Amino acid sequence: MILIDGKNISSKVKDEVKNEAINLANLGIKPGLAVILVGDDKASLTYVNSKEKACKMCEIYSVKKTLPASTTEDELLNLIDELNKDDKIHGILVQLPLPKHIDENKIIEKIDPKKDVDGFHPINVGKLSIALDGFVSCTPAGVIRLLKEYEIDISGKNAVVIGRSNIVGKPMANLLLKENATVTITHSKTKNLDFYTKNADIIVVAIGIPNFLKADMVKDGAIVIDVGINRLDDGRLVGDADFENLKEKASFITPVPGGVGPMTIAMLLNNTIISTKNFLKEKK
Ligand code: NAD
Repeated sequence: MILIDGKNISSKVKDEVKNEAINLANLGIKPGLAVILVGDDKASLTYVNSKEKACKMCEIYSVKKTLPASTTEDELLNLIDELNKDDKIHGILVQLPLPKHIDENKIIEKIDPKKDVDGFHPINVGKLSIALDGFVSCTPAGVIRLLKEYEIDISGKNAVVIGRSNIVGKPMANLLLKENATVTITHSKTKNLDFYTKNADIIVVAIGIPNFLKADMVKDGAIVIDVGINRLDDGRLVGDADFENLKEKASFITPVPGGVGPMTIAMLLNNTIISTKNFLKEKK
């Protein structure tokens, strides 16, 4: 079994990002990312702070907008409008989930697709589905990067994605399809999940249920990518895959923590670099 080291690969991506950011700054355009947080959700605050810290480390200008939970939809739309027009900002991210009185879809659609470094805007989602260049959701983009770094050939493989969220499952399936895998998307209503997973060369599990994918659900030599992040009552962080038993059977596996998790922020910074380069091209 080979352990896929996401910590190591994410450091490599961040080093590349830093070099690119310095080069771009020398060309007169310092990459800038704005992160908006509405409300005081603890987990969201931790994510936003780590994004800000990563920006600093990688020479990316970062703006953190922290708004109270009482912020109205219009106030948030206006802030996005300002950031859309701000030349110093090349990426805009609204930390989800938003308070219930705000329509997430409306907010996502307000972000200029050219600055949508999270890849959630319908324009970017649509581009991915017809294999055009656009921003790709960071976690699934990170998974593809991990597979490539480990020289895992995706083409022609049977890939099974467990979970169909807009943030992970669906873009993951589209990316694997783009890499010429034969893709099956499974979800909470799938019957006989084992039937699909036992035939899979690559399994990506993203459902949010601790240790859900068991060793008897996969074939020998399967590649297991665990996107799940679950905090157990005893404080331990575990994935959606039963790592201890699967590691005997899988050919490659990602640990939790230290697998897919660290890739998400690295790919967000990478998307900010891509966006800045696009703006530079437009300026010329
Ligand atoms: P979500 O709650 O939006 O979606 C869960 C999906 O799992 C749904 O499509 C549902 O159909 C499916 N599902 C639920 N129960 C199932 C079952 N018994 N069998 C098959 N499918 C089932 O979740 P999400 O936002 O995609 O996140 C999934 C997990 O990934 C969570 O643990 C989350 O914390 C983690 N996550 C990690 C990162 C990262 O950076 N590594 C990023 C995003 C999400």
